[in-house]
Amino acid sequence: MYAERSPVPPKVPYVYILAASHSGSTLLALLLNAHPEVISVGEIVSGSRRVVDGYRCSCRQLIAECPFWRAVAEAVRREHPEFDLADFGIRWEPESPAWLRRTLRLEHRGRLAEAARDAALGLSSQWRRHFARTSACCVALARTLLAQGRARVVVDSSKLAHRLKLVRRIHDLDVKVIHLVRDGRAVALTYMDQQTYADASDPALRRGGRGAAPAPAGGEMPMAKAADEWRRCLRSAEHALAGVPAASWIRVTYEDLCARPEAVRERLFDFIGVDAARAATDFRAAEHHVVGNGMRLDTVSQIRLDERWKSVLSAQDLQVFDAVAGPLNRRLGYP
Ligand SMILES: [Zn+2]
Repeated sequence: MYAERSPVPPKVPYVYILAASHSGSTLLALLLNAHPEVISVGEIVSGSRRVVDGYRCSCRQLIAECPFWRAVAEAVRREHPEFDLADFGIRWEPESPAWLRRTLRLEHRGRLAEAARDAALGLSSQWRRHFARTSACCVALARTLLAQGRARVVVDSSKLAHRLKLVRRIHDLDVKVIHLVRDGRAVALTYMDQQTYADASDPALRRGGRGAAPAPAGGEMPMAKAADEWRRCLRSAEHALAGVPAASWIRVTYEDLCARPEAVRERLFDFIGVDAARAATDFRAAEHHVVGNGMRLDTVSQIRLDERWKSVLSAQDLQVFDAVAGPLNRRLGYP
């Protein structure tokens, strides 16, 4: 006779927004979150730990005081006492040992490089323990968000290609991917001057709600570096997508999202598997507790295409961009 088994909980439907930084992922997260069956809290994990002190949730309260996040933290901590609002305890890069952190930070460079990385990691019992613990915390957070938001699907706009690869290995998540792309010239401009082109409209709400910082002494990032950064992000994303079944990912552009938000949203709700008719039309009116890009703190609900790059970038900037990343940008459909 078989022993009685406890029922296996179903996998969590988990939608991952894969994108280069400043490609509109926070806007997309807010739009999707306006559906009652979807919960999105934005960038669950970004590159580095956020400084919780003074950091504002999209509801404008300090994240440490927001009732939504307090309830989530309390629920997750019952299973994972280390849960921390600075990184939610689910970053793959551990603080130590240094070699493991470095190995995990390596850029996604294709099948061979990934196989080498996996082989190195596979030999480490520290990594296996860290992966098991982090995965369990990831699933606990996802289930808590579903319960707290009374939703069915989690949307994670963490964007990073390498994070996607590891999230796809978590057994309890059923992962689908939205690849969001934006004209590389527009993205490169946001890297050149983050504060002006890639944060909340109101300077007082920049830097997570702490207010704009004085202009950096070293000046802006040069175009060659900005274009290269964008190109490497896109390349990593394409490598990460190569392993995802065609039915499990979809590509949308930021420009299309701004030009036809309703149509794009409908297509995405279909892809996610929720009824588009149930979504709120005014996305800002829905309840949001989103972390990540500064635009979460803006109040305007009208979606405007940001094409400032067309007037701000010089002919020389455009030339430099073209030399570094022009072919890739054209391949994505940007003339
Ligand atoms: Zn909040």
